Amino acid sequence: MMIIKEPKELQQELKRRRFEAAKQGRELTVGLVPTMGYLHEGHASLIRKARANDVVVLSIFVNPIQFGPNEDLDRYPRDAARDLALAEKECVDIVFMPEVQHMYPQPTKTKIQVEGLTSSLCGASRPGHFDGVTTVVAKLFHITKPDFAYFGMKDAQQVAVLSQMVADLNMDVQLVPCPIVRESDGMALSSRNVYLNEEQRSQALVLSASLKEAYELVQEQKSTTAAELKKLLTERIEAKPLAEIDYVEVLTFPELEPISEQTRLSDYEGDIIAALAVKFGSTRLIDNMLFQKKDVALHV
Ligand code: AMP
Repeated sequence: MMIIKEPKELQQELKRRRFEAAKQGRELTVGLVPTMGYLHEGHASLIRKARANDVVVLSIFVNPIQFGPNEDLDRYPRDAARDLALAEKECVDIVFMPEVQHMYPQPTKTKIQVEGLTSSLCGASRPGHFDGVTTVVAKLFHITKPDFAYFGMKDAQQVAVLSQMVADLNMDVQLVPCPIVRESDGMALSSRNVYLNEEQRSQALVLSASLKEAYELVQEQKSTTAAELKKLLTERIEAKPLAEIDYVEVLTFPELEPISEQTRLSDYEGDIIAALAVKFGSTRLIDNMLFQKKDVALHV
């Protein structure tokens, strides 16, 4: 497994590998898995999907420009040795682990901004967050030129925003959305779960439990409306004293548009997402459930 820190070095290494393959009449496919490290089974699931490619590139970079001034950039969990051991075990070919000065040798004056899709949900609570995400992912795409890039539906809005960016800018990469990986008790895996104390962790189970209850309700009662779903989720979460709701939304996916509160979910033609962001102490957790009518329809 190669470990590379410099963008230029990764570009040259991949160019070399593609050239060698072409000499033998083969075309090399490259799969990219972008992460911020402190890896867990959710990240491992993306790496396993990426192994369908000839070369798997895992990037580990805590991207400062996607954090707001009062967010957790400084305390974001990091453990490079553990990450490298997991990457090795999962047969990653190249780990791209740049320092901030490698990715941003000078303050960036170029930013990519996707309009509309970034104004709701996490985009509303974290101004500028998605500009940081789209900008760093575009940089990673230019550095790696991946054929496929793997993203978790844990960050469903990120998938919607990046799909729009790829379509709008004719980026030659296929995004592969991957299902949310959960603990056996339902809790969605997240690097930020380490911040939670025992009581917060226990109460935070309400996120996945209420989403599951909502899903079952929609399966059983075809007449369930968006408003009823929102009410159920809100009540369940508010019943937990340590929970502080940032948002509970029921929107279309991937357009992230509001649906009329009286719309029965079963009558709506496309996919619908129930998305939550809830704080437990200073830790903000997100989770979601997709109500799918068809295969995930993204602009790719
Ligand atoms: P992060 O390191 O948190 O920026 O996440 C890197 C990638 O892993 C993103 O595409 C996430 O959506 C994905 N990811 C994080 N947690 C999970 C999870 N529990 N299940 C599936 N994918 C995940």
